[in-house]
Amino acid sequence: MVPLLDLARQYQSLQPEIDAAVLKLLASGQYVVPSGAHPVVTQFEDAAAQTLGVKHAIGVANGTDALLISLRALGIRPGDEVITTTFSFIATAEVVSLLGAMPVFVDIDPDTFNLAPSLIEAAITPRTRAIIPVHLFGHPAPMQEINAIAQRHGLRVLEDAAQAWGARMDLDGVTQSCGALGDMATFSFFPSKNLGACGEGGLITTNDDALAEKVRTLRAHGQRRRYVHDEIGYNSRLHAIQAAILNIKLPHAEAWNDARRANAAHYAQSFAGLPLTVPVERKGARHVYHQYTLRSPQRDKICEALTAAKAGWAIYYPVCLHQQPVYESLGYRVGQFPIAERAAQEVFSLPIFPELRADELEAVAIAVRAGCTR
Ligand SMILES: *Cc1c(COP(=O)(O)O)cnc(C)c1O
Repeated sequence: MVPLLDLARQYQSLQPEIDAAVLKLLASGQYVVPSGAHPVVTQFEDAAAQTLGVKHAIGVANGTDALLISLRALGIRPGDEVITTTFSFIATAEVVSLLGAMPVFVDIDPDTFNLAPSLIEAAITPRTRAIIPVHLFGHPAPMQEINAIAQRHGLRVLEDAAQAWGARMDLDGVTQSCGALGDMATFSFFPSKNLGACGEGGLITTNDDALAEKVRTLRAHGQRRRYVHDEIGYNSRLHAIQAAILNIKLPHAEAWNDARRANAAHYAQSFAGLPLTVPVERKGARHVYHQYTLRSPQRDKICEALTAAKAGWAIYYPVCLHQQPVYESLGYRVGQFPIAERAAQEVFSLPIFPELRADELEAVAIAVRAGCTR
């Protein structure tokens, strides 16, 4: 049996350190600081900012809140439009709707599954305020092109980097981290992400002092001073226990991403000549394989073979956002975004987590090969 993901292996590899940090926090008696600036949280925020090369990193309760609070900080209001990809996790669009604004979907690039920059301008209207590119599966979105469009039209750019901790790309001739490529960015520390907590967590990054100040206020009930509330905010602090765990995990993230990349290279070699498309890496981009997502018109046969071999697999994502029941009222038609709709029919993801053993990787590769030839 090969699991799609086994989080216990990562915990076991760091168990003495994690246990000690959690117990120390429990013994401290200091669990929540009203402003959100618990010293253990601040320690993590500082380390994260340094790792990513950004001025500000601000912990929040989860990746969805990170998106929501960022959009609030950017001033997104009811009636505004926000352009994003139709091929993502629901949270990317959900937060736009939660603010009474409208998600405007755009089709993807068939090779990377990321927002297709050539299609963005046609979706811009006088109500458009922002673009949310998603570094889907850990592959950096084409930020050079997206930032240029945003600049031409006076739009803000919010990176959804939930799946892209440690991903990097060349921008303006310099290698920069996902999370440092737009006006603001968000991360999730949901346990399955490349840097995952043992529970929920999120992070907002920006180089803009005013946006950072706004985020710090919004995450703690809109208060700058205790019990003085300047605006309607949220109860969305990063938990100190999760921050304590993230402080231990952060220094290992680069090696874990290297292991994911090595697993991906092994698969790519094993699948040469088979009727499937392995993930591509754009030039100058460091893909961190949050998911190892292939495509094949014979997907169902391959997935049956994986199931028969007791190997884990999943489909990210079987339904595009513009085809979600909740967005029916927006009036998108079947066939409106043919690249994404076809991807939803053909993609499947294989186990890629860093602690995967060589024999497990090989067992998955054998099952895929069997599925292609039967
Ligand atoms: C996981 C994820 C989120 C949401 O993060 P949570 O921490 O689960 O709230 C948002 N966007 C994308 C692309 C994600 O993969």
